[in-house]
Amino acid sequence: MAHRPVLLLLTTMHESGMNLLRDAGEIRMASALDPATIQREVVGVDALVIRTGGVIDRAVLERAVDLKVVGRHGVGFDEIDVEAATELGVQVLSTPGANTESVTQHAFAFMIGLSKHFPRMMSALAAGRYRDRTSLTGRELTGRSLGIIGFGRIGRRVGEVAHLAFGMPVLYHDLVAAPPEVEARAGARRVGTDELLAASEYVTLHVPLDSSTRAMIDRQALAGMRPDAILINTCRGPVVVESAVAEALDAGRLWGYGADVFEVEPPQPGHPLIGRADVMLTPHSAAQTVEGLRNMATWISQDVLGVLRGEAPRHPVNDPALVHANRRKLGRAAGP
Ligand code: NAD
Repeated sequence: MAHRPVLLLLTTMHESGMNLLRDAGEIRMASALDPATIQREVVGVDALVIRTGGVIDRAVLERAVDLKVVGRHGVGFDEIDVEAATELGVQVLSTPGANTESVTQHAFAFMIGLSKHFPRMMSALAAGRYRDRTSLTGRELTGRSLGIIGFGRIGRRVGEVAHLAFGMPVLYHDLVAAPPEVEARAGARRVGTDELLAASEYVTLHVPLDSSTRAMIDRQALAGMRPDAILINTCRGPVVVESAVAEALDAGRLWGYGADVFEVEPPQPGHPLIGRADVMLTPHSAAQTVEGLRNMATWISQDVLGVLRGEAPRHPVNDPALVHANRRKLGRAAGP
């Protein structure tokens, strides 16, 4: 590298990644995550690392004339305008697979916790109502049907665990069919969403957020589900219409809802699902494990620094050849 690159981090991350970046360049921490601050602080920066919080839109990318690379610490890059980044010759990276195990286990925590009435049992115990233990009957996952929407890294792993650990029959819906050996590992069969929703006692969502998945689980989709179904959302909040979930729970048309993500994050006061006894919610913390955080931080730091050194990206979100060509067309320097 010709000079020490300037790296802007929107939030801090695991020390393993911080150390890699510190050794290679000058780290700046964003002072806030609102658009005006990001637009101001991105000036003069070679690389930007984003976690959850903050939006990298066209306005930010246009201001950031020295920016070569945006690294998304995590999976899912809906907060980055990838099209604008490509046009402006900015490489976007992410860390697919870094938190697959963490998110998979989070989905099972919701499935099991709701099946055994954890929210109700925990609040009864805390309120001194020990005898409530016999007032509700839970159920096992074993042998119950599971529907997986989005059969990518996380969806496939959820399917494997469900099949191997709990003998759950698995249906999945995805735009593309998985290879037969992948389907076999999860004992999974590909079906349309209507069939999946109608058949499954557990429905778990593992799609990216885009125009094809936004509000995918709306009132109509919920009406097609079994009243004894548990819906799990660990992917992105806007894939589910939360008000429709609250309605379905109120009407007894859904057994429970577990979610790590919200239509608007952080959720606003008076949110219709927070505090309900038939709901388990976590604050976008599925990937917050030692393993997940370390993987995301080291992988994104290594990839960002590699791109700044002119190496091929390991986990590109946009096409590196197109990024490179557009960069040259704009006459922007390739290295720091
Ligand atoms: P992935 O890219 O490996 O899998 C996504 C799958 O969804 C792909 O197989 C794709 O074909 C499928 N898909 C896309 N659009 C679809 C549609 N309209 N209908 C059906 N299938 C569709 O991603 P992954 O690693 O499995 O992660 C899935 C999502 O989970 C991420 O995009 C991210 O938004 C979310 N996520 C959340 C957390 C968290 O902290 N809660 C952590 C990691 C990932």
